Amino acid sequence: MDEPKYTPEEIVEIVRAVETFERHFVEIATTLLSVYDCALTCDEAEALAELFRVAGNEEAAKLVIEEHAKTDDEPSDLHYEGV
Ligand SMILES: [Zn+2]
Repeated sequence: MDEPKYTPEEIVEIVRAVETFERHFVEIATTLLSVYDCALTCDEAEALAELFRVAGNEEAAKLVIEEHAKTDDEPSDLHYEGV
Protein backbone atom coordinates (compact mmCIF):
# COMPACT_ATOMS: atom_id res chain seq x y z
CA MET A 1 0.00 0.00 0.00
CA ASP A 2 1.23 3.51 -0.82
CA GLU A 3 2.30 5.87 1.90
CA PRO A 4 -0.50 8.30 2.78
CA LYS A 5 0.01 11.60 0.96
CA TYR A 6 -0.75 13.68 4.06
CA THR A 7 -0.13 13.23 7.75
CA PRO A 8 -3.15 13.46 10.09
CA GLU A 9 -1.87 16.89 11.18
CA GLU A 10 -1.73 18.06 7.57
CA ILE A 11 -5.25 16.78 6.96
CA VAL A 12 -6.49 18.85 9.90
CA GLU A 13 -4.84 21.92 8.33
CA ILE A 14 -6.37 21.16 4.93
CA VAL A 15 -9.85 20.83 6.40
CA ARG A 16 -9.36 24.09 8.30
CA ALA A 17 -8.24 25.83 5.10
CA VAL A 18 -11.26 24.53 3.17
CA GLU A 19 -13.58 25.81 5.90
CA THR A 20 -11.87 29.20 5.88
CA PHE A 21 -12.07 29.34 2.08
CA GLU A 22 -15.77 28.50 2.16
CA ARG A 23 -16.46 31.25 4.69
CA HIS A 24 -14.51 34.00 2.94
CA PHE A 25 -15.01 33.20 -0.74
CA VAL A 26 -18.66 32.20 -0.86
CA GLU A 27 -19.86 35.69 -1.84
CA ILE A 28 -17.18 36.18 -4.49
CA ALA A 29 -17.79 32.76 -5.98
CA THR A 30 -21.57 32.91 -6.02
CA THR A 31 -22.24 36.55 -6.95
CA LEU A 32 -19.26 38.70 -7.81
CA LEU A 33 -17.86 36.48 -10.57
CA SER A 34 -20.98 37.06 -12.65
CA VAL A 35 -21.24 40.75 -11.66
CA TYR A 36 -17.78 41.30 -13.09
CA ASP A 37 -18.52 38.99 -16.02
CA CYS A 38 -15.77 36.53 -15.05
CA ALA A 39 -16.15 33.24 -16.83
CA LEU A 40 -14.66 30.09 -15.34
CA THR A 41 -13.65 27.12 -17.41
CA CYS A 42 -15.65 23.94 -16.82
CA ASP A 43 -12.78 22.45 -14.79
CA GLU A 44 -12.41 25.62 -12.71
CA ALA A 45 -16.15 25.71 -11.99
CA GLU A 46 -16.18 22.02 -11.03
CA ALA A 47 -13.13 22.48 -8.76
CA LEU A 48 -14.70 25.51 -7.05
CA ALA A 49 -18.04 23.74 -6.64
CA GLU A 50 -16.28 20.69 -5.20
CA LEU A 51 -14.55 22.82 -2.56
CA PHE A 52 -17.90 24.24 -1.46
CA ARG A 53 -19.47 20.77 -1.54
CA VAL A 54 -16.84 19.20 0.73
CA ALA A 55 -17.08 22.23 3.04
CA GLY A 56 -20.77 21.41 3.43
CA ASN A 57 -22.14 24.31 1.37
CA GLU A 58 -24.13 22.44 -1.28
CA GLU A 59 -26.12 25.59 -2.11
CA ALA A 60 -22.96 27.52 -3.03
CA ALA A 61 -21.71 24.58 -5.10
CA LYS A 62 -25.01 24.53 -7.00
CA LEU A 63 -24.89 28.31 -7.58
CA VAL A 64 -21.32 28.16 -8.91
CA ILE A 65 -22.32 25.54 -11.47
CA GLU A 66 -25.55 27.36 -12.37
CA GLU A 67 -23.74 30.67 -12.92
CA HIS A 68 -20.96 28.97 -14.86
CA ALA A 69 -23.44 27.04 -17.02
CA LYS A 70 -24.74 30.36 -18.41
CA THR A 71 -21.34 30.83 -20.08
CA ASP A 72 -21.25 27.36 -21.64
CA ASP A 73 -22.67 28.18 -25.06
CA GLU A 74 -21.59 25.22 -27.13
CA PRO A 75 -23.51 21.92 -27.08
CA SER A 76 -20.18 20.16 -26.49
CA ASP A 77 -19.57 22.22 -23.30
CA LEU A 78 -19.94 20.14 -20.13
CA HIS A 79 -22.62 22.34 -18.54
CA TYR A 80 -24.41 23.47 -21.70
CA GLU A 81 -28.12 23.89 -21.04
CA GLY A 82 -29.24 24.77 -24.53
CA VAL A 83 -30.42 28.27 -23.63
ZN1 LIG B 1 -18.91 24.15 -18.15
